[in-house]
Amino acid sequence: MTVAIRTPVAEAPSKPDGIADALFHPTGVDGVYARTHLYEDVIERLTSWISSKREPGTEVLRFPPVMSRKDLERHGYLKSFPNLLGCVCALHGTESEIRSAADSHESGGDWTASLSAADLVLSPAACYPVYPIAASRGPVAPGGLVFDVASDCFRHEPSKDLDRFQSFRMREYVCIGTGEEVTAFRDRWLDQAASLAGELGLTFDVKPASDPFFGRTGQVMAVSQLQQALKFEMLIPLHSTEKPTACMSFNYHREHFGETWDIIDQTGAPAHTACVAFGMDRLAVALFWTHGLDVDRWPAAVRDVLKF
Ligand code: AMP
Ligand code: ZN
Repeated sequence: MTVAIRTPVAEAPSKPDGIADALFHPTGVDGVYARTHLYEDVIERLTSWISSKREPGTEVLRFPPVMSRKDLERHGYLKSFPNLLGCVCALHGTESEIRSAADSHESGGDWTASLSAADLVLSPAACYPVYPIAASRGPVAPGGLVFDVASDCFRHEPSKDLDRFQSFRMREYVCIGTGEEVTAFRDRWLDQAASLAGELGLTFDVKPASDPFFGRTGQVMAVSQLQQALKFEMLIPLHSTEKPTACMSFNYHREHFGETWDIIDQTGAPAHTACVAFGMDRLAVALFWTHGLDVDRWPAAVRDVLKF
């Protein structure tokens, strides 16, 4: 595994004037934006570019922006990131109960006090729904399974920064198999990191990372994740070189999801899993921030790989 791939640390590119107005329309909520044609065109090109990297034998699945609440609870998300979770709520009850709750809004009341949880949460990552699907198929055949998944994701982390949204798009390649199969998969992607960033003309660094686990016990989990080198991130300097933006992550979950979902490999042991996540919105913002708002003037090589 090669992880010390670094381009020379360059200055962070200066933020193009008017970038927010060119790419987004505000909705009145921080981190939730309507997107312009200029921006979506680049998202679509990035989507095709990522598809062109799909390994043979990969199964494609696309998920809605919501997923089963029970499944996310079983994943242990409430232990790790309860602060980031968004839960779908609805007005349950009889017609008159629902009517009176909704009408309380007209008279200045708080209709939301009558909400109760539906059986859905907003998906916080694209790969979560794939593990129960894999489990339902029985033991994982030799060679392992690879999926190409995507969904709109939600994380409750409101911010005015252009690289931190509450609602954003994530694309992932996910591998399920033996420890060797899964680490080989992650290492193939880590080894490609330099060429991926290079094709997009982005200055980058790949570094060990940890997830923002909640609270004090979360700090212990983060240290253990770092010590075991379970997560790496592709960092791209936008605001500054000191605080670069994670635009991709390379994650090895060991047998955590295999045990959680009773996914077994061909030997009957809990399967190992790994995922490689592309932050679609962060990659698109990084492209505009680095190369400017006029796509006609982006480097010819970048225009080529994005098929302009
Ligand atoms: P993670 O599961 O935290 O490794 O996230 C996978 C990728 O999603 C990250 O590398 C980012 O590119 C992207 N991402 C995570 N959180 C956000 C956010 N709040 N806004 C935009 N993109 C995000
Ligand atoms: Zn994942």
